[in-house]
Amino acid sequence: MGVEAGVVIAAHGRHYLVQAGDTRVHCVTRGKKSDVAVGDVVHWKRTSPDQGVIERIEERKTLLYRSDQYKSKLLAANLTQLFIVVATEPSFSDDLVSRALVAAEAGGIRPYILLNKMDVAEAVPKARERVALYARLGYPVLEVSARSAPEETKAQLEPLLAGQSTILIGQSGMGKSSLINLLVPGAELATREISAALDSGKHTTTFTRLFMLDGKTFIIDSPGFQEFGLYHLTEGMLERAFREFGPHLGNCRFYNCHHLAEPGCAILSAVEQGEITAMRHALYQQLVHESSQKLY
Ligand code: GDP
Ligand code: ZN
Repeated sequence: MGVEAGVVIAAHGRHYLVQAGDTRVHCVTRGKKSDVAVGDVVHWKRTSPDQGVIERIEERKTLLYRSDQYKSKLLAANLTQLFIVVATEPSFSDDLVSRALVAAEAGGIRPYILLNKMDVAEAVPKARERVALYARLGYPVLEVSARSAPEETKAQLEPLLAGQSTILIGQSGMGKSSLINLLVPGAELATREISAALDSGKHTTTFTRLFMLDGKTFIIDSPGFQEFGLYHLTEGMLERAFREFGPHLGNCRFYNCHHLAEPGCAILSAVEQGEITAMRHALYQQLVHESSQKLY
């Protein structure tokens, strides 16, 4: 039988669900390989009426990773956009937001910050002040309310989503599921079907899945997580992923400056002048440290 193309819509261990036209096929990889990510375009061969084997992954346009000390994990492939979902309440983590921004920059993916629950009026001023830091760096911040202004939120987001492949990430409680359900009609049912197909009924929320709104508009839901390890990024990638470092790079006394404690460091002096926030520089420092701890 011939080889067909399809898009990986869910992954669980070495099992993948591939959407090929109107059909869904449960695919495995050959041997022990498990380097396929949700969003990958794959060429697969049918082995039984509803099963197949992945022969080849098409070259990826982008790849989003997270990693720990021991290994890196593919989050999704061929993304064009990353929506970082935060809320007016409960309080969100700047660490997670900045890590997601760094991952997006390093992966060549356009990030947006969605500030959800704008209806919680008393929490708005503080939250706006906190996201303003990211707006000043040039990242678009969108104010939405999935629960109390669903139609407006939909109207606001749909034009941004059209023709794009967008992943939503966020800490739990920010309203990511509410947004997904708003943007993807039938998302809950589709997720149950995907879980059943991958024999992972118990783990409904623990895997990444891709929803096709049409042939070229994809929305990817990732499990909520509290950590976003970036051990795989090198120092060179890190200094470029912090946008606000850009104007100062090349101005340090030493050409191989690490921007940590060197005399004559242009980045450190920008931190002192308040042009770069101490919080972002501290994260840079932490990420350089993580990068040096990686064991693979
Ligand atoms: P997730 O953990 O990020 O997937 O968040 P959920 O979508 O499960 O939402 C967490 C809680 O926030 C739920 O109780 C939602 O009803 C609530 N929520 C979601 N969106 C809004 C919103 O726009 N305004 C308010 N007030 N609550 C919201
Ligand atoms: Zn420096």
